[in-house]
Amino acid sequence: MARSVLVTGGNRGIGLAIASAFAEQGDKVAVTHRGSETPPGLLGVKCDVTDAEQVDAAFAEIEEKQGPVEILVSNAGITDDTLLLRMSEEQFTRVLDANLTGAFRVAKRASRGMLRKRWGRLIFISSVVGLSGSAGQANYAASKAGLVGFSRSLARELGSRNITSNVITPGFVATEMTDVLPDDRKEQILGQVPLGRYADTAEIASAVTFLASDSAAYITGAVLPVDGGLGMGH
Ligand code: NDP
Repeated sequence: MARSVLVTGGNRGIGLAIASAFAEQGDKVAVTHRGSETPPGLLGVKCDVTDAEQVDAAFAEIEEKQGPVEILVSNAGITDDTLLLRMSEEQFTRVLDANLTGAFRVAKRASRGMLRKRWGRLIFISSVVGLSGSAGQANYAASKAGLVGFSRSLARELGSRNITSNVITPGFVATEMTDVLPDDRKEQILGQVPLGRYADTAEIASAVTFLASDSAAYITGAVLPVDGGLGMGH
């Protein structure tokens, strides 16, 4: 049966690959965007995850058009890299607000319908650097590490209602976010990846659809790396 899915930041990059994978399975898929076009076959809802009112309005629209969200993929995220001494408080809190508090806003709103239905899947897109740390990314790594504690708390709070909560930690994926890295940094990264290449966005998507599937019904509170071996040891 087609399930109601929401992927935040599903208009491009990893989010779009995730949204497309659910749509290919026959699910009803909504994606948030902040003003861009939405690819055909997906329900586009305008929503900035840093604004609770926009989040509420987006969920109301999705509920009306495809039913309450049963699978939430919290994927929207930003970087604003610089070394600690140069990082302003605004740079730190802005990244936390989008990546971590944004996930809180959408998960809280989604949990309402999931609790009523006594079924739900919460999937948070974190990053390998949330576990390993990354020089120049203290804000981003803190936000991504925060998702682990957040998700595991939800796994404990909501497990009795058949709602699972899991985190995926991608390594480096070929998207606009990694395109902007300088070439020497890209080379350095690839040298540390046992599989010796970036991930394709579809390889992140297949881990997400697995966690949302019946085959993953007993998996909750997990942190699933999809990183070519980059983060091994955690
Ligand atoms: P992109 O930069 O390609 O896309 C980011 C997405 O997030 C866009 O859809 C963007 O929407 C959306 N977004 C950003 N801020 C907000 C906001 N405030 N409200 C709503 N939507 C927002 O990133 P990727 O596809 O590469 O990354 C997706 C996720 O995967 C992120 O959480 C990222 O941290 C994580 N990740 C990425 C890795 C990589 O190597 N690329 C590695 C590990 C994790 P809009 O189009 O409106 O800007």
